[in-house]
Amino acid sequence: MALRFYNTMTRKKETFRPLRKGVVTIYNCGPTVYSYAHIGNFRAYVFADILRRYLEYRGFRVRQVMNITDIGHMTMDEEADGKGEDKIEMMARKEKKDPWQVARFYEKAFYEDSAKLNLSKAMVYPTATDHIKEMIRIVEKLVKKGYAYEVNGSVFYSVDSFKDYGKLSGNPIENLKIGARLEVNPDKKKPYDFALWIKDPKHMMQWDSPWGKGYPGWHIECSAMSMKYLGETVDIHTGGEDNIFPHHECEIAQSEGANGKKFVRYWMHTRHLLVNGEKMSKSKGNFFTLRDLLKKGHDPKSIRYLLLSGHYRIRLNFTENGLGSAAETLKRLEELVSNLRGTHKGKPNPEVKKLVEKVRKDFETAMDDDLNISLALGKVFDFVREMNKLVSGSGGISKQDAKLALETIIGFDKVLGLGLDKIKAAVGEKIRIKDSVFTIHWQGVKSRTEVERLIKKRDVHRKGKEWKEADKIRDNLNDMGYILEDTETGIRVKGTGAKKA
Ligand SMILES: [Zn+2]
Repeated sequence: MALRFYNTMTRKKETFRPLRKGVVTIYNCGPTVYSYAHIGNFRAYVFADILRRYLEYRGFRVRQVMNITDIGHMTMDEEADGKGEDKIEMMARKEKKDPWQVARFYEKAFYEDSAKLNLSKAMVYPTATDHIKEMIRIVEKLVKKGYAYEVNGSVFYSVDSFKDYGKLSGNPIENLKIGARLEVNPDKKKPYDFALWIKDPKHMMQWDSPWGKGYPGWHIECSAMSMKYLGETVDIHTGGEDNIFPHHECEIAQSEGANGKKFVRYWMHTRHLLVNGEKMSKSKGNFFTLRDLLKKGHDPKSIRYLLLSGHYRIRLNFTENGLGSAAETLKRLEELVSNLRGTHKGKPNPEVKKLVEKVRKDFETAMDDDLNISLALGKVFDFVREMNKLVSGSGGISKQDAKLALETIIGFDKVLGLGLDKIKAAVGEKIRIKDSVFTIHWQGVKSRTEVERLIKKRDVHRKGKEWKEADKIRDNLNDMGYILEDTETGIRVKGTGAKKA
């Protein structure tokens, strides 16, 4: 099946073909570095990472750019002409730092968080403040072509001059005219015109321009940096659904106005992340940065897993319980990898090759269909279940079969990015209890005979549904200084060295 993506512009799934054969250009709207990114932001970046990794899995070379916004993003960003206060300056006042310090501090934090979530590095992370010249050049071009005008040292985009304005968001000029919330700035010809260059003597960050000192608006940076690193037309542009209007609508007006060419071929937007069923907000106490979750002891891999596990065009509800089940689910994958890496002396089984071929086909079919990752993961876990049966069954599996299954899972992990390639072999011992073979993972246990005898006894109770007796043995082992853990593929026995009297 051909690779298909849902294009926000056409509102349908389209077969994906890049402009240049074999190479895909991607521009991701990146973070505004005035605070730590929250997990809603990271949902969009994890999606961008999965998109890039899957394109690479399919054999494309990917040129990915993610911008860092460090100027011009205003607190009232839902309005085209960002009113309010520059977010970076707002934080600078609050933290009593200069805006440059604020930007560099949170930019560094963003890279650290991205590494924790195992996001692949983009080709470049350009900052807006490093590209003022490029922005001025586009604004000049827009003024020259009649798309923009200067008043009292500020430059505005004349939305009426761009007939396609509203084509992405379905929010045409007629709607904006009705939108009474647009307060009239006396310098603007039309209330819905948006700022490209802003004169504001009170602003802490200022640059010279043909219109005097000032600073750029938020939207122009993405037009400038996208063009500089990826050319006038990019294959894919991503962002959160809240970027569609006004940010991406304005980017289109700027880029297509200046270049007279299509700006983006496929627009892909992630839906919001909810926390406990509600929109995240600091006042509701359901606002989490990645750091908040790590401080609570959550594993970044589980966080990544939870963020990637839902289809990007469906709202994802994030809960700490969900994070707990993500950790459990991930453990099942890790355990299979660990067991497959162990020694195997079973007979070759043609079933393994069949399972591998099926799961590869199913995984790719699901991912080809607009990155349907929840379906793809479902297929992967069907495979995990089948493989576990074979691995822990009485015949075991052969070395070759284990290798084939392992390569398949590690191949999927090139897309999932869960670090499965780093999982080590299970050092387990197989013991037979009646009809089934158990793997015991011994960790720091010196004298095994008595422990083994108790485990066998416990198993007899469990099979007889005598839970109380079974639990009692577990408690006994606990008192002897051993922790018993039942896992998908066997029993883990950890010696704690803490023997109770
Ligand atoms: Zn952007």
